[in-house]
Amino acid sequence: MPTSPTTATEESAVLQCPLCERVPKKPKKCKPLHGRLVCPKCRNAFASRRQLAFVIDTVIWELLAMVPLYYLGLIPGLNPTGFSIPSGAVGPVEIFFSYIFPLTFYFKDGFSGQSPGKYACGVQVVDVATHEPTGFGRSFKRNLCLIIPVAPLIVLFLMMKGRRWGDGWAKTKVVWTKHRFNPIFDDRGTRCTKCGYDLTGNTTGRCPECFTPVSVKAYQPVEKS
Ligand SMILES: [Zn+2]
Ligand SMILES: [Zn+2]
Repeated sequence: MPTSPTTATEESAVLQCPLCERVPKKPKKCKPLHGRLVCPKCRNAFASRRQLAFVIDTVIWELLAMVPLYYLGLIPGLNPTGFSIPSGAVGPVEIFFSYIFPLTFYFKDGFSGQSPGKYACGVQVVDVATHEPTGFGRSFKRNLCLIIPVAPLIVLFLMMKGRRWGDGWAKTKVVWTKHRFNPIFDDRGTRCTKCGYDLTGNTTGRCPECFTPVSVKAYQPVEKS
């Protein structure tokens, strides 16, 4: 059972990374992820996954968005069907594709907390309290902030810290699927770090589901020898 999680504010001379369980070569370079120190390698790897997922989603969405534009003859020089929008509808159609249609991008994380990019990169959006994957409503809420000009660039940077704009409002957080029960991502403190089994009241010292030893090792500074 975790007793004293290492917080970002605690100064520990030698620290074990709670994600990769390695002792970082340069402990001073450890920075917080979701408020707790991890090694630079893990922090960067998680941020890179999220950033790559964002880029993949943007590309996929842009390609999908081309489909209706293509068939409506709205891409200059390409009009396979010979369709032309009635002159009276040109204005509303332009408004729709400029302002309404782009909002569909914000629903991307609604597939059990995963967009296609997040699925490919092994990250997932979950509810802060229950750790259940989010649906389309919460996805829209957390991504709506991207409507602000330059917000996507700021969000890409904030991904380094864990929580980014929109997560507070939507009460969501992004977890590394492989480590989703690790205390860095799951701070309920009562779950097996491997399989997520609720270990409240456990006295055997082992998870009854996956037989992982119930250990606080990953939380504590490694003793100097
Ligand atoms: Zn690490
Ligand atoms: Zn377990």
